[in-house]
Amino acid sequence: MTMTVAPPIAPFRFFDLTVLRTRRLGPSMIRVTFGGPGLDGFAAGGRDQSLSLFLPHPGQPEPVVPVDSDGNWYAAWRALPDNVRAVMRSYTVRAQRRAPDGATEIDIDFALHGDGGPACRWAALATPGDRLKTLGPAVEDNKAVRFRPPQDTDWVLIWADETALPAASAALEWLPAGMEARVWLEVQHAEDRQALDITARARITWLVKDEGAPTAAEAVRAAELPEGVPYVWIAGESSQMRELRRHLVQERRFDRRRVTFVGYWRRGLSEEQLREAAQSTDD
Ligand SMILES: Cc1cc2nc3c(=O)[nH]c(=O)nc-3n(C[C@H](O)[C@H](O)[C@H](O)COP(=O)(O)OP(=O)(O)OC[C@H]3O[C@@H](n4cnc5c(N)ncnc54)[C@H](O)[C@@H]3O)c2cc1C
Repeated sequence: MTMTVAPPIAPFRFFDLTVLRTRRLGPSMIRVTFGGPGLDGFAAGGRDQSLSLFLPHPGQPEPVVPVDSDGNWYAAWRALPDNVRAVMRSYTVRAQRRAPDGATEIDIDFALHGDGGPACRWAALATPGDRLKTLGPAVEDNKAVRFRPPQDTDWVLIWADETALPAASAALEWLPAGMEARVWLEVQHAEDRQALDITARARITWLVKDEGAPTAAEAVRAAELPEGVPYVWIAGESSQMRELRRHLVQERRFDRRRVTFVGYWRRGLSEEQLREAAQSTDD
């Protein structure tokens, strides 16, 4: 079945993004800072706030998204030829702030993976003035913020690979001072580790793939975890996340309602192939 009905977008809407600057955070990560008048009214909720980015194909001056097509942008976008319609990809708002002139700025951190898809290739070449569109939040409390520890949480478990490092870092910065956290962050190279500005009582283990780091489930299985009521947030490659969730829910007997688990990508599939696979399971 082909999906022709636009997914509900409120409280999300389209914003125009202009690249202001870029900065290498390490061998595998580039930070792109966006601004411009098109960001007025953007309202990220922090933590793992995600959005959909729309990217141009090489040679296009800007992404082609029929945002004004009588509310049904999704059907109109899908109806465009593959090599014309903008490439849609999910990313995280690493930070939102006001610039000295009062304008809104946001940072998005792109993991530069070896299998280089269109988003990764775009980020590697991004220069000031480049334009993208985003379907992003217009109110801070929105359902694209998934990191939501319940009130009675005693401690937090986080596992993230490089694609989820921006979300995990923002979530860690958001946690209250003194909150106990056990955290595993997977990166490719030792130089990809980042300094984090946190007040939670977090024990962070960097899993460096170059140094033969264990898988997500192996790393957590070997750990002694705190007592008390946990909240879990894990995000990264889908099959690794499924294995880790199984360990937590079946072997450690964690309450599945306290486990937020998000596949950020799947090895061997592009994001549109993933969307198509998910849609055909729904059909
Ligand atoms: C809610 C959410 C938030 C996300 N936030 C971020 C973020 O802030 N930063 C970020 O970098 N990513 C983030 N991602 C992941 C990102 O959307 C995917 O990595 C996406 O596939 C990248 O698009 P692409 O065009 O580069 O590659 P695609 O065209 O989608 O894929 C091309 C090939 O690359 C492979 N691939 C994709 N990602 C990786 C990877 N990391 N390592 C190795 N191979 C890979 C695919 O399996 C495929 O074979 C997020 C995903 C979700 C669902």
